[in-house]
Amino acid sequence: MEKGVLVDLTRCIGCRGCQVACKEWNERDVRKTTFKGDFTNPVKLSSDCYTNIQFVETEKKGKVGWSFIKNQCLHCKEPACAAACPVGALTKTAQGAVSYQFDKCIGCRYCMVACPFDIPKYEWESVSPWVQKCTFCAERIEDGLLPACIKTCPTETMLFDDYDKIVAEAKKRLAKEPGKYVKHIYGLEEAGGTNWLYISDIPFEELGFKKGIPSVSLPDYTWSVLSSIPAKVTGFVALLSAVAYFRGRGSQEEGSE
Ligand code: SF4
Ligand code: SF4
Repeated sequence: MEKGVLVDLTRCIGCRGCQVACKEWNERDVRKTTFKGDFTNPVKLSSDCYTNIQFVETEKKGKVGWSFIKNQCLHCKEPACAAACPVGALTKTAQGAVSYQFDKCIGCRYCMVACPFDIPKYEWESVSPWVQKCTFCAERIEDGLLPACIKTCPTETMLFDDYDKIVAEAKKRLAKEPGKYVKHIYGLEEAGGTNWLYISDIPFEELGFKKGIPSVSLPDYTWSVLSSIPAKVTGFVALLSAVAYFRGRGSQEEGSE
């Protein structure tokens, strides 16, 4: 059954418990950060940070306050990252997660270019780098558990359920309190639809959400761009495949992260 998440941004208190839970479950390293006048910490996603909470100063009805934005892969219904990958290292599962198979990856990073939300990150610091991003805790879901970030959240900011149910719940909340929420479910149409949806009391563009994402699925567009340079693409992929082979990327015996 296809799963989804409804993120109700009016409920987030910015505790960052989800950030910590994600890092712990995925065994990501901790990196030293420096305060630069922005409470978002770390400032951006990285290969060691699959999700962060963005602190955004907002004004509502004349009052200045904070909004807290849970940021991670949106698990697009028809992911541009997967469409751009020439070796099928990224795939959409029946449960809704866009998962990554490191043993297929040749390191071309087309997925990073294709993603409209700037999500996948590369392990530039590693001698044997992979692409990293939120996995939707696919193994936890398989075992009947909640994704780590959702399990930890003390305010039930995120609702995990069947995709159709979270869409219905988002519409219900907007209909029940029209004065509270802006009339938009972010992710319902953006990029052809995403399995993570957002509702908010502040217009999404004021919160830094990407505007102008087409409401059609992006894979066709992605390949129309890449196929305009077929010789270069084919040659580049062949070269990286050879490099990956000699570096043992194709080994089925190595364990993943
Ligand atoms: S948000 Fe980016 S990385 Fe995530 S599924 Fe969509 S295209 Fe892929
Ligand atoms: S755990 Fe919940 S309340 Fe805390 S920062 Fe994450 S989404 Fe917000």
